[in-house]
Amino acid sequence: MIEINADEFNKLKICPNPECCSSGIFFLFSCPDRLTNSPGEFSVYKCKNCGFVFQNPRINLECQETYHPKKIWHSISNIESLLKTNQNNSLKDFFKKQALINHFNYSFAKKNIFYFFLSWPFRRILKTFCFPNFQQGGKLLEIGCSNGYFLKEMQNLGWETKGVEPDQESSFVASNSCGLCVENKKIENCNFKESEFDAIVARMVLAHLYNPFETLQTITSWLKKDGQLIFSIPYFFGVEFKWFKNFCYGLQLPTMISFFSKKMLRDNLKKIGYDQIKFYHHYFDRDIVASANYKYQATGKLFYKLLSENKSVRLLIIRPLSVILGVMGLTSRVSVYATLLKK
Ligand SMILES: [Zn+2]
Repeated sequence: MIEINADEFNKLKICPNPECCSSGIFFLFSCPDRLTNSPGEFSVYKCKNCGFVFQNPRINLECQETYHPKKIWHSISNIESLLKTNQNNSLKDFFKKQALINHFNYSFAKKNIFYFFLSWPFRRILKTFCFPNFQQGGKLLEIGCSNGYFLKEMQNLGWETKGVEPDQESSFVASNSCGLCVENKKIENCNFKESEFDAIVARMVLAHLYNPFETLQTITSWLKKDGQLIFSIPYFFGVEFKWFKNFCYGLQLPTMISFFSKKMLRDNLKKIGYDQIKFYHHYFDRDIVASANYKYQATGKLFYKLLSENKSVRLLIIRPLSVILGVMGLTSRVSVYATLLKK
């Protein structure tokens, strides 16, 4: 394993938000890598001025892949189910299809006012999964496409697709087993054409980047005017972070580097030409359950064992609670939708 280089040399003295650069940064907490149990303690700082929360010092860029839990996120075992996406054989699939038709403009059937209302909850679920509004003949890029399961679905739905994936094994699966056009690169090393895409999707990617605002500008140059930028991020100001603090599952140190506030994102996105910026909070119960499990492992308290292991508690309390918190915009994961109005 490559040694981390989380020493004073790498420690930031000012806020890494290029719009801020304030020296008013302060230590919040430190914690270990709870996801993969790699060695070391990793510290999190916050900027008093803009609210940016970031890992400091940050692990070496070269080390990041060593820590990235690809065995968890880049599951490559289930290729058959991956290739069968978009088969409508259950009630859930039916409502998903109706949501795509009535809320995302997918044109495989006519819109229907009855199904418009009935499929409303599925609209929200698809927003959390970063589904784009359909555009006939549109070209879509997914950044960090893993083994291509989302990209394959987008292709099946009528998009012309391209993907980028830094993990060699996953990008190999996406290219060879799924027949997708995927580049095995880091996003910083990509060189797409100016205004090449109608939609760009980056799910849980931005928080891993060292220079997310610079990368956002680069991504924006690849997007057409009126194009859709859709991404998801952990949201540090959500209730799971407030409740579980450095035990929060969404923290995922050390691979997560940057935690944005909505104001920061809105200001930065507006500055580079975006408008119609909307936030959709996720409502996966896993964030509470997994955070409670970390807390139980550390404290041994039965309350956390109940939250993390009892199926009835999960089904009857945590799941409905997560939905309510998500609808109220209070959870610790969020999808961001923005339209590029100025180029
Ligand atoms: Zn700042």
